[in-house]
Amino acid sequence: MSLDQYLLGVDVGGTKITIGLYNAKCELQKSNRIDSGNRSATDIETDVRNTISELAKIQSLIVSVGISSAGPIDLQRIEISPVNIPAFRKFPLGEIILGELAKFGSHPQIAIQGDIIGMARAEVFLDPTLSETTAFLVNAGTGIGGALIDKGKVLTGDTGNSGYFGHASVAFAGPICNCGAFGCVEYYAGGAAMLLRGKENGIVTPLSDFATLNSLAESGNIAAIATISSGATAIAQATVNVMLINDFTKVIVTGGVVLSSDIFYEKMVSEIASRIQPHAFLLDFQIRKALLDSSSAELGAALLAREVLLTS
Ligand SMILES: [Zn+2]
Repeated sequence: MSLDQYLLGVDVGGTKITIGLYNAKCELQKSNRIDSGNRSATDIETDVRNTISELAKIQSLIVSVGISSAGPIDLQRIEISPVNIPAFRKFPLGEIILGELAKFGSHPQIAIQGDIIGMARAEVFLDPTLSETTAFLVNAGTGIGGALIDKGKVLTGDTGNSGYFGHASVAFAGPICNCGAFGCVEYYAGGAAMLLRGKENGIVTPLSDFATLNSLAESGNIAAIATISSGATAIAQATVNVMLINDFTKVIVTGGVVLSSDIFYEKMVSEIASRIQPHAFLLDFQIRKALLDSSSAELGAALLAREVLLTS
C-alpha cells in the first residue's frame, strides 16, 4: 500500500454511525458522526451519502473500505440488520458506499465484520502481546457482544457472526428477548435493557440513559444497585461459559456500560471469580479493561480495509 492511498473505516453502533478517513498506516485523518437512533433508513442513508462525499473530496484515492457493524451482518452482500436499529433490515450499506465513491472515480475493495470483531482487531493492533495468546473480548454497551482472539487472529466464524454473544441464553426458560430467543444475556445486561429492568424493579425516577441508572446506584438506590448487579451477574455467567468452552483464561472488557460503571465492572469481576471456582483449569484467569473505548470499532474497520487490500 502506498502512502498516497487512503482507507475508510465505518462503524455502525446502536445509536450512531461513524465514518473515518485513514491513511496507509491506519492513522485517523478525519472522522464524522451520524446519529442513527430513532431515524428512518432514508434519512440515515442521505447522511451516509453526504459524509462519504465529504471525505472523498478530501482524499479521492480511497482504495479500500472496512465496515464494523452490530450484527447480524451479511458478509457477501455487505448488508446489515442490527437488532438495535429496527430501521435497518438487510440494509445495503456496502452498495450505498460504493455507489457514492464511484461518483469520485474510486472503486475500492470493501469488506464487513461484526463491530466487536472490529474492536478486537484494534485491541490486537494496540497490544502486540495478544499475538501470542488467546483472549475473549467482551463488549458491554447499549448491546452486548464478544470476540475470540487466537494468537493475534480474531475468529470470524462461518458467517462472520462469531462472538454474537449478546444473544447467547443464560436462562433457557427466561423471558423472550428482542431477537426472539429466551433469556439472552443482553436482555439482562444490555445498557438499554437495564433501563427497562430498572423500571420493572420499581425505579420511579425517569431513566433516560444508563448514566442516570448508574448515578442512582452510586447514590445508594437499592433497586438500581440490584438492576446493575443482575446485569453484571448475567454477563459474568455468559463469560464463564465462553471461557469454559474455549479454555480461555484472559478476558478484556470494553463498552460504555462496563467502562462507566465501577458497580457493574466490580460485580462482573467478582461473579466471574466465584463462578469459575468449579473449573480448576481456569482459576488463574486475568481480566482487564480494553486500551480504547468502543470507538475502536472504527479503527478496527480501517484495519480490516487494509488487511483486505494486502491479502487480495
Ligand atoms: Zn436476544
